[in-house]
Amino acid sequence: MEYLDGLDQATEYAEEAISLMTKHNVAKTPANFELWYTHVSGRDENLSKTIEILVSNQQPFTQEQNGSLRQQYFESSDAASAISSAGEQFGNSMGAVLGFLNEASSGVESYGKSLESNLGDMASADSMEGFRRAIESLVSDTKGMQAQNQLLKSRLDKSSGEIESLRQNLENVQKEAMTDALTGIGNRKFFDISLRDLAAEAMESGEQLCLLLGDIDHFKKFNDNYGHQIGDQVLKLVGMILRKETSDKAKVTPARYGGEEFAIIIPNVVLDEAQVFGDKVRTTVSSKRIRKKSTGEDFGNITMSMGIALFKHGEPLDDLVQRADQSLYHAKGTGRNRVVTEQELESAELES
Ligand code: GH3
Ligand code: MG
Ligand code: MG
Repeated sequence: MEYLDGLDQATEYAEEAISLMTKHNVAKTPANFELWYTHVSGRDENLSKTIEILVSNQQPFTQEQNGSLRQQYFESSDAASAISSAGEQFGNSMGAVLGFLNEASSGVESYGKSLESNLGDMASADSMEGFRRAIESLVSDTKGMQAQNQLLKSRLDKSSGEIESLRQNLENVQKEAMTDALTGIGNRKFFDISLRDLAAEAMESGEQLCLLLGDIDHFKKFNDNYGHQIGDQVLKLVGMILRKETSDKAKVTPARYGGEEFAIIIPNVVLDEAQVFGDKVRTTVSSKRIRKKSTGEDFGNITMSMGIALFKHGEPLDDLVQRADQSLYHAKGTGRNRVVTEQELESAELES
């Protein structure tokens, strides 16, 4: 959804939305803010009507309620739009702060003017009474200014608190959008962004970078034998192993590439070193026995095949992924539970 309100208008809507959210105890998340902002802006008549009906029926605006309103009225309620709305909200809050500051400076200006005129009155006062009146007026204007400053300070304090919580929300939304819900490691999107960034870094520093792609062996059969739920537990286990094996290595980045495929980006190593590391991960995976905790039922173990390619500085990243994938395919074709590098693949191709 696009919002093209001017800054003043947006600030007004943002303040109104936040005050309504406070009044109705709505959690101040980016998603809820977008909903309530849309409501106060009158952009979606039906949404506003529904909210008004809920208000008049004294319905609480729980997280579920806000979520279901979003689902009903915002079709594109995916993470991407949440991120953009959080960003926008951030801008709106900044707009509100700017608004307060403008108010403050016009307040200061009028105080300055009244000071000037009071001083003028004092200078030209021809009686004690006139002098006293000018002083009283000065004191009263000064008190007014103090009160205004106090109000301004409390509004700024409130806004900075709101901005901080928005910043936190934005960070959480972004993190969630890049995390695989099942395994807790980075998802495909995270992988794409990390590979792009780390490849750029490698080019800049002139360092090497390897990409490892791994795939669980005969996983379809495992699922068929023991069910999808146990299969999911296996994926979780692999995610955990990948995280553990990479946690002490700066910039070595694991991710769930897709279904039962995983990736590890390994900066600052050449193929041989990456292969040693891949082999360690492969051995750890195959050494784990998979058991059902509640019954002790034993599902045996699983293995993984892996392929590794070395980044050629400047090449399209798809080419790197493709070579890692071809190496993985070769590992599958030559017995599985193996780690094959592109170098090995090349010599195998030369032989045949
Ligand atoms: P190969 O050794 O050649 O890789 O054989 P495979 O059976 O592992 O390969 P295939 O690509 O035929 O099957 C992949 C299986 O992975 C099929 C699919 O059901 C399973 N899978 C993919 N994503 C998930 C998931 O999220 N959970 C579970 N439980 N299984 C999944
Ligand atoms: Mg596969
Ligand atoms: Mg597989």
